[in-house]
Amino acid sequence: MRIVSLAGGIGGARFLRGLLAAAPDAEITVIGNTGDDITLYGLRVCPDLDTVMYTLGGGIDEEQGWGRRDESHVVKEELAAYGVEPQWFGLGDRDFATHIVRTQMLDAGYPLSQVTEALCARWNPGVRLIPMSDDRTETHIVINDGQGRRAVHFQEWWVRMRASVPAERILLVGADEAKPAPGVLQAIEEADAVILPPSNPVVSIGTILQIRGIREALEGKTVVGVSPIVGGAPVRGMADACLTAIGVETTAQAVLELYGAALVDGWLVAEEDAGVRLDGVRVEARPLIMHDTGSAAAIARAALDLAAELSAARSRPDGGADTGTGTGTGGDAGLGDGAGEGAR
Ligand code: GDP
Ligand code: CA
Repeated sequence: MRIVSLAGGIGGARFLRGLLAAAPDAEITVIGNTGDDITLYGLRVCPDLDTVMYTLGGGIDEEQGWGRRDESHVVKEELAAYGVEPQWFGLGDRDFATHIVRTQMLDAGYPLSQVTEALCARWNPGVRLIPMSDDRTETHIVINDGQGRRAVHFQEWWVRMRASVPAERILLVGADEAKPAPGVLQAIEEADAVILPPSNPVVSIGTILQIRGIREALEGKTVVGVSPIVGGAPVRGMADACLTAIGVETTAQAVLELYGAALVDGWLVAEEDAGVRLDGVRVEARPLIMHDTGSAAAIARAALDLAAELSAARSRPDGGADTGTGTGTGGDAGLGDGAGEGAR
C-alpha cells in the first residue's frame, strides 16, 4: 500500500508516528512544509522538516514537540554574548549541527530534497520525506503594530510575537515560481490514499497546497483529512490566529470548507464536532486527541479505513453515490490571492 501524507511540524509529525504504527508495511511518502524555513546566522533552518525527521527518528524533545532531546544551548548563549540577533529563536547545540550540514550541502549545490534525504539517512524516519519544493518559498505575515504596516517573516510573528499582533494577510513569497520537488507529483499519482494530518490548515497544509500542481494532483485521489480543530479551538498552538487572518472561523466545519469537497473526500472530526457536514464529503467522528503513539495510531487507522472505503466506493460502477464531488472551493481565494501578492 502506498500512502502520501502532507505534513507541517508537531501535529503532522505526531500523526505520522501513529500512521507508521497503524500501517507498518505501507510505503509512506511525506510531503513536508518548507514555508516556515528561515536563514539564521547564515544557516538554513527547516523547522517542519526537522520536526518530522526528529520525531520519527527518535531524536525529538518530546515535551516541547520540536528540537532535539538532551539539548544544550551553549552556542545560543555565546551568540547572545556577542549581541547577535535574533535572540528570540531557540536553536540548541545539537540542532545547530543539522543546520550546518544542511547549509554546507545547499552551498555545495545540492537541492533541498537531496539534502533532506541525506539528513534522513542518519535518522531513518521510516518514511520518504520530501520537501514540498526545492525552490525557496517563505511565509510572510503582514501586520500593523504601531511601527506601521509591514511584512515580517512567519517565524518572527509566530515565535517572537506569539501571534499576538493580528495578521492582516498571510503570503507565501515565491509561490508563483516554485515547482514541486522531484518525486512529489509522482508519489501522489501512485498513492492508494492521501492523508491530510491535523497540521495547521493555513501555514502548513495551506502552504503546500499553493505549490503549483500539488492541489490539482491531490484532487484526483482519495483524500482523507483529520481536523486540527476540536470543539472550536486548535488542540495546541495558535492556528486560530492564522485562520482569522484569512477570514475563516476556527471550527472543524470551516476548515473542511476551506479545503473544499473538490480536495477532500473524507473528514475526521472529534466527537463534539459530529454535526459537521459538507456535500460530497464523508464526515466521521472519532476521538482526535493524540495523547501518545497509540491514540495517534487509532486516528491514522480510522483515516486509512475511511480512505479504503471511499476508494472502493469510487471504483464501483455508480462512482460511489455518497462521495460525489461538491464545489467547496470557498477557501481558495484567501490562500491563492495571498500567494500572488506575496510574490509581487
Ligand atoms: P507546527 O508546524 O509545529 O505548528 O505543526 P503542524 O502544522 O503540523 O500542526 C499544528 C496543528 O496541530 C495545530 O493546529 C493543532 O491544533 C494540531 N494538533 C496538535 N496536536 C493535536 C492533536 O492531538 N489532535 C488534533 N486533532 N490536532 C492536533
Ligand atoms: Ca510549522
